[in-house]
Amino acid sequence: MTSIGIDSGATFTRVWDGQHAVLKVQTRRSYAAYLQFLAETLKEYEPIQTLALALPALFEHGRVMVAPNLDEDWVGKDIEAAIRQVLHITGAILIRQDTEVAGYGIQEHELAELDPTLLVTLSSGVGGALVTKSCVSPLEVGHMVLNLSGESRLCECGQYGCVEADLSGTGIYRHLGTRAEHLEDAAFWSEYGSDLGQFFLVVTALFKLRQILLIGGICQRAPLFLEQARRHLAATLRYVPTPTIRLSRLGDNAGVYGAYRLATQRSS
Ligand SMILES: [Zn+2]
Repeated sequence: MTSIGIDSGATFTRVWDGQHAVLKVQTRRSYAAYLQFLAETLKEYEPIQTLALALPALFEHGRVMVAPNLDEDWVGKDIEAAIRQVLHITGAILIRQDTEVAGYGIQEHELAELDPTLLVTLSSGVGGALVTKSCVSPLEVGHMVLNLSGESRLCECGQYGCVEADLSGTGIYRHLGTRAEHLEDAAFWSEYGSDLGQFFLVVTALFKLRQILLIGGICQRAPLFLEQARRHLAATLRYVPTPTIRLSRLGDNAGVYGAYRLATQRSS
């Protein structure tokens, strides 16, 4: 029997069975369409042993509480029960927040001795997970109110001045009307780098980080901002050593590798 890992972001969903190439498709944002997608895509693997599913959502008692980058019809749904109605799964269904699951991928492949590491997702939203040898903790670093732009911009979550309001793809689009991947303006990206460096300054002091790893679509623009983020951190951080900052080698597959690892650990 096969175990399956799935990582769904606001834009793309990745599926991995541990053998074939990672399948990458557009995320179905409505709940009903998403369930139909799961049923159709995973039918060929039935019976499935363990399924691990990473979603851009917060859960409580197995139900979706907040999913700002998916449609509203996800809120309150018991996804595990719904999946069992449409697919034959003999073992566990593990449903976790996306950044936590990406952290399992990092823990296996990229932690090295740099413990603790903070994984930061720069994508439609901004998320993070603290990764150590012994645990992975999802953190709402995107919703810390640091007001990096100084403009108290409204965040998707309803707060003003969140990191996500300034550094996410959604925030950039809201402010400039252009998607981050289409922005060529060097001055914009230099400022973005400084703001990111200021964000890193706060989290480095908080967790005494040894390493910061980045994933997410905005990382395509890293040559325009990453060095500035490093410079800002080096120029401002004093009390604790400066962490390594780089792009994750797993890239956007960190989540689906982590999901598969979670699924196979549970079924072994
Ligand atoms: Zn927020």
